[in-house]
Amino acid sequence: MSFDYDLFVIGGGSGGVRAARIAAGYGARVALAEEYRMGGTCVIRGCVPKKLMVFASSFPAAMTEARAYGWDAQIGAFDWTAFRAKLDAELDRLEKIYRAGQNGAGVTVFDQRATVAGPHEIRLADGTEVSAKHILVATGGRPFVPEFEGAEHVMTSNEIFKMEALPKRILIVGGGYIACEFACVFEGLGVDVTLWNRSPLLRSFDLECRDLIVDKMAARGIDIHTNCIVHRIEKTAAGLVVEAGDGRRETFDAVVYATGRVPNTEGLGLETAGVATARNGAVEVDAWSQTNVPSIYAVGDVTDRVNLTPVAIREGHAFADTVFGATPRQMEHDLIASAVFTRPEFGTCGMTEEEACKRGGVEIYVSTFRPMRSAFAGADDRVLMKLIVCTETRRVLGCHIVAPEAGEMIQLAAIAMKMGATKEQFDATCAVHPTMAEELVTMRNPTRHG
Ligand code: FAD
Repeated sequence: MSFDYDLFVIGGGSGGVRAARIAAGYGARVALAEEYRMGGTCVIRGCVPKKLMVFASSFPAAMTEARAYGWDAQIGAFDWTAFRAKLDAELDRLEKIYRAGQNGAGVTVFDQRATVAGPHEIRLADGTEVSAKHILVATGGRPFVPEFEGAEHVMTSNEIFKMEALPKRILIVGGGYIACEFACVFEGLGVDVTLWNRSPLLRSFDLECRDLIVDKMAARGIDIHTNCIVHRIEKTAAGLVVEAGDGRRETFDAVVYATGRVPNTEGLGLETAGVATARNGAVEVDAWSQTNVPSIYAVGDVTDRVNLTPVAIREGHAFADTVFGATPRQMEHDLIASAVFTRPEFGTCGMTEEEACKRGGVEIYVSTFRPMRSAFAGADDRVLMKLIVCTETRRVLGCHIVAPEAGEMIQLAAIAMKMGATKEQFDATCAVHPTMAEELVTMRNPTRHG
């Protein structure tokens, strides 16, 4: 049977573009459909614009520190309009690079929505039908906003980067990493920030680390309320009046919902091909990212495994290597390092202390201290470094760092962990002095056993 393409990729985000480019490099005839903008969530409305906002929000604190170091430094007002124009231009530039990457690899790009019409059939929004030997679903996820009275007045992370003006008072609803990061970003930009969530913040992370982060966020002036749910929102001349389940009423200029994301499978036609999905709509796949329909694969957030850009990229790459490169490869989902760009920043890899203690047979090494740079400036910042070590094998099973640039540090620690490094090998590594990270190789005695 002959097909129009060897591979049709639905979704031009992190996972989709990588898979398409690598498959085309192996000589496959590849097409890709993107309904919004090339680059997907990460580039257009996720990691990249968020990190640029993190940078933008860091300058007032840097200026305070500069003054403590003797500089006659003053910070003026933040010009959101100027920042947004630069941000838009940067995202346009990046989008062009992603598109050029596909074109250069020989991938045919359709700038429209595509749906699955059968095990080998794809229907484009303009009505065109094409066939492919393999279909890769890489449609990502989207923000989830629950239904309640006034829900139409809220923004999600999709709209934040498109705001016309910076609000004076903002309510962020949610407790995951995206909610906490935006709370810190807006606080840094001078916005009055309130954070409501129904449960404790950063729930899936190491408890001691998240307690420190949340304490510091509160100390910075973010008004945090847990056990708090939005009941209704009313738009008035004074702003958005938000009523909580406990009767609290507060007025904000903007409300952002960051209460989780759902896989993008609604209306995708997966049922027409018989592709199995989970209750939340995630495409069910095996370790090869293959669905129950042999010709259809899925990678990235749409599979709801580990929803991070580098994971989607590697799943896409492993799929292309396996199916088109004759080098079968599975993405390993253990020991994936990640960062939370709150202030203080958080880098984490492997087991939390809570998970480790459930498992048993572990030593917990913890070091907390005031970092040299901000201690000199008189700030009350604290760094926390934690290693979780298997008593029997001595392997480092978990590493958690709350510190400036913790994301950069955890990336390097993760290499050692992935190589199976033991605590003694960490200790045999000579320290770099004076740094914060040297603490990772100088923790002598366990703080606790689990
Ligand atoms: P996506 O990047 O979402 O791409 C899917 C693409 O498919 C989209 O472009 C969409 O328009 C398109 N599409 C959907 N349906 C169709 C259709 N039917 N037809 C055609 N096109 C379609 N991850 C990190 O690793 N680090 C971070 O710091 C980080 N920060 C984040 C911050 C925010 C605010 C958000 C929202 C996410 C963040 N993430 C971060 C997560 C990261 O963005 C995702 O894990 C990653 O983008 C997933 O890639 P993907 O290819 O699975 O999907």
